Amino acid sequence: MTVKVLITDEVDEAGVDMLRSAGFDVRYSPGMGKDELLGVIEQYHVLIVRSRTKVTKDVIERGRNLVVIGRSGVGLDNIDVEAARTRGIEVVNSPEALTNSTAELALGLMLAAARKIAYTHQQLSSGKWAKEESMGYELYGKTLGIIGFGRIGRRLAELASCMGMSILAYDVVKPPEDALRKVGAKLVSLEELFAGSDFISIHVTLTPQTKGMIGEPLLRRAKRNAIIVNTSRGEVFDTQSLVKALESGWIAGAALDVYDKEPPEPGSKLLMLPNVVHTPHIGAQTYEAQRKSITMLAEKIISIIKSKGLS
Ligand code: NAD
Repeated sequence: MTVKVLITDEVDEAGVDMLRSAGFDVRYSPGMGKDELLGVIEQYHVLIVRSRTKVTKDVIERGRNLVVIGRSGVGLDNIDVEAARTRGIEVVNSPEALTNSTAELALGLMLAAARKIAYTHQQLSSGKWAKEESMGYELYGKTLGIIGFGRIGRRLAELASCMGMSILAYDVVKPPEDALRKVGAKLVSLEELFAGSDFISIHVTLTPQTKGMIGEPLLRRAKRNAIIVNTSRGEVFDTQSLVKALESGWIAGAALDVYDKEPPEPGSKLLMLPNVVHTPHIGAQTYEAQRKSITMLAEKIISIIKSKGLS
């Protein structure tokens, strides 16, 4: 049997080539609309998407021959996972592909905030030589608190320990001893982490427990020179408290890649504060992460198809 694969969002060609080399018949149609998808899905065994295509219950029900649905990258919110699993269709993604790029962005944001890179860039663009007011901090010798010691948190710990930082870690699940030992990280409570860190970087998944987990009580515990970086999900902050903390000087600064509403309202207070560096959710926007997303997903799909004896 020839396995037929439909890809309806833009992905790196390396993944398409891998699937073709595995002997699959691949139709690469990025941008395919819902009506066309509903019309053709019955012919396919595998559907691959990113975040644009909505794999709703009606698509899944029409996909009578579907065996696997693959989501390149992280998040499954555009796929009706429940409907797929009820029909015995496997749903896979490739979040591990984004780990290094996101950790590197977190490190870059720490440096940008500590050395006022965005602020001085902006000043110089408007003709101001803002040298005197732009004293910053080194990362070397400072303490970095990592909230959520999973894939990205651990990779950031490796990068930061190479920069001479000490690591405090907090996670709801106890990380393996060797992951802590490798970077000399000390496991602490969230309160201890806030009180003891010069830099704090957030890497938890968004759950009902992490939604709004960082608010006024924790922010008030932070060191006055602390810089907080968030590349996880905007909703982990109580945004009003963050604005208050930045305005009142409870913390020195923040660097954000994610927001509770994306894109945030233009001119919103958080974007206008001089001690905030912001990027538009670009953690995984690298050529490497995008290529790895689809090639790692292709590997998983090829292995599932083989394990089912379909090719
Ligand atoms: P992961 O699952 O490997 O790690 C998440 C960690 O958070 C786990 O160790 C988990 O135990 C911990 N955690 C969950 N609930 C917690 C709680 N209540 N308290 C403390 N720790 C808790 O995930 P990851 O791949 O490292 O991704 C981390 C985050 O980064 C996710 O929110 C993900 O969506 C986000 N992300 C953002 C970008 C971006 O473009 N900015 C890219 C990739 C991932």
